[in-house]
Amino acid sequence: MRSMVPDYLADALADVEPDTSGALADYIPELAAADPGRLGAAFATVDGEVYGAGDVDVELTIQSISKPFAYALALADRGFDAVLAKVGVEPSGEAFNEISLEPATGRPRNPMINAGAITTHALAGVAGLGPAGRVERVLDGLSAFAGRRLRVDEGVCASELEHAHRNLAIGHLLRSHGVLTEDPDAVVEGYTRQCSVLVTTRDLALMAATLANRGVNPRTGERVVPEPVVRQVLSVMATCGMYDAAGDWATQVGIPAKSGVAGGLIGALPGQIGIATFSPRLDQHGNSVRGVSLFGRFSADMGLHVMEVPPPALGVVRAHTVVGSGAEAVRVVQLQGGLGFAALERVVREVAATDMPETTVALDLSTVYSVDDVARRMLLEVVRRLTLDGHDVHLVDPEVLVPAPDPGDGGRVTVVGSVDDVLAARRHRAAESGAVR
Ligand code: GLU
Repeated sequence: MRSMVPDYLADALADVEPDTSGALADYIPELAAADPGRLGAAFATVDGEVYGAGDVDVELTIQSISKPFAYALALADRGFDAVLAKVGVEPSGEAFNEISLEPATGRPRNPMINAGAITTHALAGVAGLGPAGRVERVLDGLSAFAGRRLRVDEGVCASELEHAHRNLAIGHLLRSHGVLTEDPDAVVEGYTRQCSVLVTTRDLALMAATLANRGVNPRTGERVVPEPVVRQVLSVMATCGMYDAAGDWATQVGIPAKSGVAGGLIGALPGQIGIATFSPRLDQHGNSVRGVSLFGRFSADMGLHVMEVPPPALGVVRAHTVVGSGAEAVRVVQLQGGLGFAALERVVREVAATDMPETTVALDLSTVYSVDDVARRMLLEVVRRLTLDGHDVHLVDPEVLVPAPDPGDGGRVTVVGSVDDVLAARRHRAAESGAVR
């Protein structure tokens, strides 16, 4: 069978292709010379599969899509406190090149607007690194997110630098507030080099997938940034990634995202996929027109909105039975699905409400596929309380979802591979004690 995913992507591109509204960014002459007809889309899964259609191997400059990644590097290199002291996390609701500094402190409101991104660039790498070392650090970091060595488009960089008056002004303003503590021209030049890094739509999808995969590049296996950094970056993308269109985007598309003026757009859906599109014509907010349409369609077609309500945990107790009779009887509570707080609360409620005359209780995880930390702790507390109530508790855990379970004070648990093992052990014990036959 041939996968339907590339066909789906090709269909989606064909649907948006006729829309030639919007305009190329013209404040950077090199970008104004781009081919406006380019169109591509790619999905990268968290296990490294990449699907693409259209111009997915054509290079474009990353532009503002570099901002969340440079922010991630700064957080990883300098720590949260040092970065938060210099750049806030409040949506400005303003355009990308708005000054948006907090009146009292001069701190940029968030790292997705230029003022914040210029500051963030200065925070990449260890303290004291010069401008060249910082650019190297950012290039290395962006390359690690993409899983291949990236390079700067010198033509676009020079073209933007010639017209970087506004960013230079922002840089000097930041310097005057003491947010930047060094030569602002060098920082703006470094930031411009960061924006001029060449990527393909495929690269962008993998970079987004690295965020979706908790900071580990799904292709190379490299941990690029720690998990708490990813959570911070995705949160800021969700609230500030689409500039003054952030609210529309959050309600209609609902995928943490970032756009760039060269026409790229990425979205990272935690635990699922990284998505990237490329189409250079921009709307009045500076976001790719066809990219925004494609993301709207992807989100609706595939239920990718992060606020899409997951199926309720009601079915977590798959079966609740008593196997065997008399002294051999075993109470089996078979759980299913992915276990989190809501699921475990159902289990706790059901176990608490059940009168259990049987000594042996088996909590069967053989049709469970994941147990998160709070579910694990609640499950072990169920074990402990059942032990204290006089039960002999078994955990059927063939996939070792709860390694080395320790129910703590007064709790005891026997781990087995199947319910049959519990029954065999029970029969053995019953025979030994002479309770039966
Ligand atoms: N290099 C561009 C600038 O700072 C990036 C803007 C964008 O992609 O939104 O003006």
